[in-house]
Amino acid sequence: MISLPVANLAEAKFECIFGRGCDGICCQNGRPPLSPTDQARIDPILKDKILPELRPEARKTIEKMGYLSGRKKIGMPTLRVTQGWCVFFKEGCVLHKIGAREGDPYRYKPELCALFPLEKDEETGEWFVRQKGYNGEFWDLFCLDPAISKKPAAESLKDELAYAERLEAAQSQPPLSDAS
Ligand code: SF4
Repeated sequence: MISLPVANLAEAKFECIFGRGCDGICCQNGRPPLSPTDQARIDPILKDKILPELRPEARKTIEKMGYLSGRKKIGMPTLRVTQGWCVFFKEGCVLHKIGAREGDPYRYKPELCALFPLEKDEETGEWFVRQKGYNGEFWDLFCLDPAISKKPAAESLKDELAYAERLEAAQSQPPLSDAS
């Protein structure tokens, strides 16, 4: 049972149709920002687990220049793009696939990608579902359009909601030095 308060959860609609008419458009030129924690999860498995699964041109780009670009969003470096797609995309998110094989699809995936389309408003601290026409949504994706996606987000986003709740719980833990 999820108890995380999400501002528009009652009315939000979302259905991911990746593989059923969508090729993964949210990973096309998406350039998510990566936190130091995201990078620390990726770095140890980059060479042995991730690189062998990537598109040849994405692998070449990373080997030459790394997976982070010079661009920044919300103060953090963003992922590189090759031939119009995130370097970690190959018929789906390679980070997601590797994590899923090990029992947790979110183990290596950048936090913002794992939460999508859930987001926390930086100013108010309020969680919300990204929706066309809500909170200044700028991305014109059909899955964010409640007129097209008919599934209640409360049902379709159970995993993402549980993940957001885990993140909130981890952030509210006192540092180890204060906990004793
Ligand atoms: S890290 Fe994965 S989910 Fe995020 S944009 Fe890249 S391929 Fe897509």
